Amino acid sequence: MTHASSPELAQARRILREVFGYAEFRPPQDAIIARLLGGGDALVLMPTGGGKSLCYQIPALALPGTAVVISPLIALMEDQIQALRQRGIAAAALHSGIVEQDDLENTLRAGELRILYCAPERLLQERMLRLLRELRISLFAIDEAHCVAQWGHHFRPEYRQLGRLRALFPKVPRIALTATADLSSRAEIQESLALGDAEVFVQSFDRPNIRYQMQQGGNGREALQEFLRGRRGAGIIYCLSRRKVEETASWLQSLGYRAQPYHAGLPAGQRSVHQRDFLNGKTQIMVATIAFGMGIDKPDVRFVAHLNLPKSIEAYYQETGRAGRDGKSAEAWLHYGLQDLLWLRQMIQQSGASSEQQRVEEERLQAMLDLTEEVGCRRQKLLGYFGETLSKPCGNCDNCLQPPPLWDASEAAQMALSAAYRSGQRCGVQHLIDILIGRDTPRVRQAQHHRLQVFGIGRRLPARDWQQVFRHLLARGHLQPQPEGSGLMLHGSSRAILRKEQRIWLRSIAASTCPAEPRKRSWRQ
Ligand code: ADP
Ligand code: ZN
Repeated sequence: MTHASSPELAQARRILREVFGYAEFRPPQDAIIARLLGGGDALVLMPTGGGKSLCYQIPALALPGTAVVISPLIALMEDQIQALRQRGIAAAALHSGIVEQDDLENTLRAGELRILYCAPERLLQERMLRLLRELRISLFAIDEAHCVAQWGHHFRPEYRQLGRLRALFPKVPRIALTATADLSSRAEIQESLALGDAEVFVQSFDRPNIRYQMQQGGNGREALQEFLRGRRGAGIIYCLSRRKVEETASWLQSLGYRAQPYHAGLPAGQRSVHQRDFLNGKTQIMVATIAFGMGIDKPDVRFVAHLNLPKSIEAYYQETGRAGRDGKSAEAWLHYGLQDLLWLRQMIQQSGASSEQQRVEEERLQAMLDLTEEVGCRRQKLLGYFGETLSKPCGNCDNCLQPPPLWDASEAAQMALSAAYRSGQRCGVQHLIDILIGRDTPRVRQAQHHRLQVFGIGRRLPARDWQQVFRHLLARGHLQPQPEGSGLMLHGSSRAILRKEQRIWLRSIAASTCPAEPRKRSWRQ
């Protein structure tokens, strides 16, 4: 049987209380622990903050021998070891930064270590494997198991070798853990770690206390100012660039907010002061790049705002997940402009990654864009991405709370595409809008675009609606930047729109949650 008997679980519960000081397991922690204590393997998909570490730390203490935890980052190992030692547990790490390896090996041989953290490349060295075979190993825990995913952001080639553990230590239970839950990574983890027999435990990724809100277009600062009005709790504001972090923080300070910047370019001393002030509540708002947040455990963050588009739903989920860890209501608010999208696409194209990798990154970005363009329940869409079905709309996202009035933009989209086509697929959005609404600018003159059939055909729509149409066409990939040089070209998928086979519904801007004027600078800000 692979399930533990109740005396073993009772012991696990005692460890939970006496060593960790918690009253109860958070399901499915108990079921996972029972599985390992019974000698079975487990694959655990749990959102960040869900409580993955206890799932292997408690069996490590309940079973005889030493548990080996494979972790990809030295910083993560050190954090965990420090926390364990504070609880009086003998734990150590073996990675490239460790000098007293001989001492550590002796401690291991003496059976004095309960938990050994190890980098994957170190674990797989012959010398290490030989040593492990001499020891009594209680379990293997493979943390951050999504590192096996070849097209993932965190790919670590050595992780794919960890499947060997099954043959090398057939009797030792193995547990793999990750906060990434999309279905393809799940299958890849199971396959490459040889976890075919593992029981899969999925904790819902839903964070019902977080209210999701998304806006696009318009002036980001004004939208943010509007959002911040009346919000007194702690919040994190994410920006893409260090410069934008600095500028936004100073601007907020000038408005009287207790805000501080945080990014990797600041001196370490200053960073830690800002971090401390935020953690203890002296600062209300942390304006940061994504360098901030990993391993930060502040339960009462009331909002996470994004002033730029995250590059994937995984990133968005992880960053917004830092809000409301105390379970009280919290908000995730996103504002983005067309410029972000062009910039992210460009980053992918210039990343130097293989074309396959670029395609995957494009798909991830596309999924994020689809979420922003969604006119139905955002939570259903978000959880759907993680393979989870929410049976009814959530009632706690912008679209549920205020179903957006829609307008039929099909004809406008046809006009926009044909303006791009007829002007030679060389023009940017602003110029195309000038053509559509019939603005006789010097550039239009110079290119003779006032002679085009499409010149002025979109006069009845205001420029901001055109921007929305273009944003949508770009977001859905119907229009794409020319790979070389500037301007937008049509993608094959645009044919269905031109042939009137596909209708396009967009939210009416006037009735959306976007602030009113001014929109002039909008996507160029
Ligand atoms: P993850 O690795 O999934 O991000 P952690 O293992 O770091 O999550 O746990 C997140 C937080 O939840 C930690 O502060 C941890 O001590 C706490 N925690 C975990 N399990 C429980 C529990 N059963 N009861 C109370 N707190 C818990
Ligand atoms: Zn909803």
